Amino acid sequence: METQDYASLRLRDEVIDKGLCPLCGGCAGGCPYLGQYKGKIVQLDCCTLVDGSCYRNCPRTYTDLDALSQSVFGQPFSSDEMGVVRGAYLARATEPTVRAAAGGGGVVAALLAASLGAGIIDAVVTTSVSSDDPEVLPARNPVGALAGDETPVPVLARGKDEVLTHVAAVHRMARVLAGFNSIPKESGEALGMVCLPCQVASLRKRTSGPPDSRTGIENVRLLIAEFCAAKRWLEPGEDRQVTNKACSYCWDYTGELADISVGSGRAKFQDWNAVLVRSEAGMRAFEAACDGGAIERQPLPDENLAAEKKASMDKKRRAVRNIIDTTGDRNNMLYLGMPRPIVDALLVEA
Ligand code: SF4
Ligand code: SF4
Repeated sequence: METQDYASLRLRDEVIDKGLCPLCGGCAGGCPYLGQYKGKIVQLDCCTLVDGSCYRNCPRTYTDLDALSQSVFGQPFSSDEMGVVRGAYLARATEPTVRAAAGGGGVVAALLAASLGAGIIDAVVTTSVSSDDPEVLPARNPVGALAGDETPVPVLARGKDEVLTHVAAVHRMARVLAGFNSIPKESGEALGMVCLPCQVASLRKRTSGPPDSRTGIENVRLLIAEFCAAKRWLEPGEDRQVTNKACSYCWDYTGELADISVGSGRAKFQDWNAVLVRSEAGMRAFEAACDGGAIERQPLPDENLAAEKKASMDKKRRAVRNIIDTTGDRNNMLYLGMPRPIVDALLVEA
């Protein structure tokens, strides 16, 4: 067998060395060979697996969006501006303390807390900035385990108060996939996850190619996406937020493969959130939180809806343009398995 067939080497060659990795964390944390160090995925030793989950489930290796959409929503990838949307709302946590702790409308915190209370989920994979936290998920490799002051670490939160503390953490998005990877295979806990769109794609890819040594993707019962324009987390060793170049190839602003997507209420509604409910699971959790009084909602105002649709389409157009600028070939879309008619329509408008 040729060494270039090894999954970890293909990942390095096709994704990391090409500047396509937004450091979603999907390949780190549960693997002894790959870890995160100073804002990069590093290979600690040579893994000889050919069909490794690092490559298979990376959101920047070929991603068939039709297939993923079928598995999540039972329908092909949507050509609508923001994907499959069953309901679009302006919503907020009814408790002012939740809004104050979580910032904005506090919908993510209220939704997770209500879902824990309703027994929809047992725990939330989230991030703490204290490695002394008793619920820290241990990484399986030494580089991923390096933690200094203020280094975000993945934790399992099981109660409302913990959820509020953790979702308010500054670096809350940084390590959730590495944390998920660290959960033992035997665990049957129903999980809530809050992810960026690239992390959502990494998780959804596991549905058809699950790693054998990690907790099952079917345990993720509520997958919430936060709208994302570009990378916005700090890595250990960085002292300011920087834009990751890999984000310029990212098409997904709202997290179109999530159960629910949550963004800000924009300038006019700063203590509210925009909420897009997408899947059956998302609808069940959101309705339960509204019915139980944890969240209040109203239809998303037309101007907010129009602004989010525009932001979403702008990001798609930018991504396809940047990808083609890089490959120099309109038929080489790198990782992006978006249906061709949708790509062509974006190119006409780009
Ligand atoms: S799985 Fe995520 S962190 Fe790993 S190479 Fe792919 S994009 Fe980067
Ligand atoms: S823009 Fe956001 S969702 Fe897209 S790759 Fe970057 S961090 Fe991930």
